[in-house]
Parts: sequence; structure tokens; C-alpha cells
Amino acid sequence: MNLSSLALPHVAKLHAYTPGLQPSEPGWVKLNTNECPYPPSPLVAEALRREIGEDGASLRLYPNPKSSSLRAAVAQHHGHGLREENIIIGNGSDDILNLLVRAFCAPQAAAGFTFPSYSLYPVLIEIQDGRSNVIEFDRSMRLPFDRIASSPAKAFFLTSPNAPTGVAFANADLERILATFPGLLVVDEAYAPFAWENAVELLARHPRLVVVRTLSKAYALAGIRVGYALAHAEIIGLLDGVRDSYNVNRLSQAAALAALSDPGYYGAIIEKIKATRDFHVGDFIQGRGWFTYESSANFIFTEPKNAAGGSGPTVARAAYDFLCARKVLVRHFPSHALTASFLRISVGTDGEMLVLSDTLDAWLKAPPNA
Ligand SMILES: *Cc1c(COP(=O)(O)O)cnc(C)c1O
Repeated sequence: MNLSSLALPHVAKLHAYTPGLQPSEPGWVKLNTNECPYPPSPLVAEALRREIGEDGASLRLYPNPKSSSLRAAVAQHHGHGLREENIIIGNGSDDILNLLVRAFCAPQAAAGFTFPSYSLYPVLIEIQDGRSNVIEFDRSMRLPFDRIASSPAKAFFLTSPNAPTGVAFANADLERILATFPGLLVVDEAYAPFAWENAVELLARHPRLVVVRTLSKAYALAGIRVGYALAHAEIIGLLDGVRDSYNVNRLSQAAALAALSDPGYYGAIIEKIKATRDFHVGDFIQGRGWFTYESSANFIFTEPKNAAGGSGPTVARAAYDFLCARKVLVRHFPSHALTASFLRISVGTDGEMLVLSDTLDAWLKAPPNA
């Protein structure tokens, strides 16, 4: 029996998204999926306990289908005149990205994205059997705004700060795209809390702009799965039309509300992560002489040099393997020349970064193939 032949032809051929490794045993220094190295605000656990109560009775009941109080809290959190009707909440921002592809992409309607950027976009587009328009960066990683502005896409996904490079794009450049690009510009701001600027203030002037955020990175809540989009009310209405009716569960709504109510806590850990990042970017560049992009995110994209001063895909792979054998997990993207000679290293605690740094020193001192 060939069950696959019953599926739609494009579904039978799909390649699933490859997430970073999530080891189940303890003892790893985990710097591979850009999670926050610090716990969420203590108000989150408190809110979860309150929501569950003595016996979990509230869990009998469906959650608020629109995550209404969370929409209001997000609107208030961002200000700039945003209101509840400008917000949609998702089961992670991946859910939001999926809704955007569902609403704006098809075999005859392309979605665009850059390479490199978040590798989920092509996966979502393939699931939809959609057409895609890929725009490649060059090694400078500067924004090719003219090429994006002339993209035939209905919706163009731009990650800023970009992943896996950490390079952020200025609002002025986004406005240059918006001035001529006739489609929807989706700016995926998963890492914006670590950047100096973000696109939220542009929303009031640009109805074709969508800003996507997540609580997974800066809010230390990857496990709770909450993300959201900020956009013109008409766009939000379209997205509401294609989402699951109960797409965000009760506990996630409660956790997210609690997190947003503690800006002081998050301001402090974000400052700490930025300081750790800037110290280690400096260490890679000046200390080790490794080419490293300026990062506006919570990770560092660096091109390792071996003891002989060589770099390239096999050098990056050797460093990755050496680290991995010593339970330090980072990310290597071998499949493209723009990324293959680099490692992406999430910014951890000072202790984790010390282990990383010592292990890289050991790699440089080790005999080849150690
Ligand atoms: C991590 C990440 C996301 C996914 O966020 P979730 O809210 O956990 O689904 C989206 N976009 C980019 C660029 C990311 O790095």
C-alpha cells in the first residue's frame, strides 16, 4: 500500500524544518537555539500556579479564543498608538508566520525572503505549495533594499536583526523598501529587544508593514509558545480569519501576561545579555582575530580560524565537532557558502561563555584531528 500517493503531490515531497538539537540528558552548555540563559520573571511561575489553582479546575474550560487581554497588554506594552485591533497572538511566532503564509502565499502568489535568514520561511511556503522569491545577501550582509523593493512577492519576510548573522537593518532602509515595494513587508523581529532600533514606530505610517515578535528569546519563554504580530487592523482581521479558533492555550496566555507586566526584570537581563555579547564579539575580533559580524541579537556569528590561521567550512566543522564532543553545543549551517565557514553561538551566562572560550582555546592547542 502506498499511502503517500493519497497525499497531495507537494505534501508527499516535503522537507520538514530542522530544529537545533534539544538534548534530553543534562550536562550540556547549550548555545545552539538562542534561548535565554536566565529564567523568566518570577511573576510567570506565580501566574501559572494561580491559573492552575489547587486542582486545575480552570483547565476544563477553553481559553479566551482571541487572547483578548493579552492583545490589550501587547498594545499597551508597545504604545505608539497601537490598539487591541492591531494585534494578533500566536502559538509562538512560528504560528504567526504560518498564518501569514496561509493568507498571502499560493502557487500563483509568491512569498519572498532573503538568504540567509530564518530557515522556517521556505518550509512554510513549501507546505502551502507556494511560489517563493529568494534574494541572496552578499558577504557584507548589507540590505539589498532595491532588489527587495522590486520583488514580485505578495509578502516579503525580512528578519531584523537577521539570523544567523545578527546584523540589524535600519528603519530608514525599511522605509526605502516600503516606499516602492507594493506587497506586505513582514519584519520578523524575534531579536529586536537586543537591537538599538525597531520597526514598531513605522506602523502608524505604513499600512503594509507587519512586525512579528516572540516571547521565546528575550522573554525566556520558548517553552510556553507565545508570539504576536503588530499590523493594520485590516491585516489582523485577515489573519484572524485563517487561524485556529483556540490557538493559544490558557497557561500560555497567563504566562505571557505576567511576563509583559515585569519590564524592569526583563530590561535588566536584556542589558546583561547585550553586555556579554559585546564583550565576546570584541574577544572574537580583537582577541582571536576571527571575522565576526556586529551583532544586534543574542547570538554571535563568527568565522573560526584554526591554529594555522586557516578558515573555511572544514575549519568551522572541526571547531563544531570539537565543541560538541565536549558537550558545548553551538550551530553550524554547512549547506551554503555564505554560512558554512561560520558558527552561530547563542549568548549564554558568563559561566557558559567561559566554558565556550576555554574549549575553543583547547581546540586551538589540540593536535589536528584531536
Ligand atoms: C526563534 C525565531 C522565531 C520563532 O519564535 P517562536 O515564537 O519560538 O516560534 C521566529 N523568527 C526568528 C527569526 C527566530 O529566530
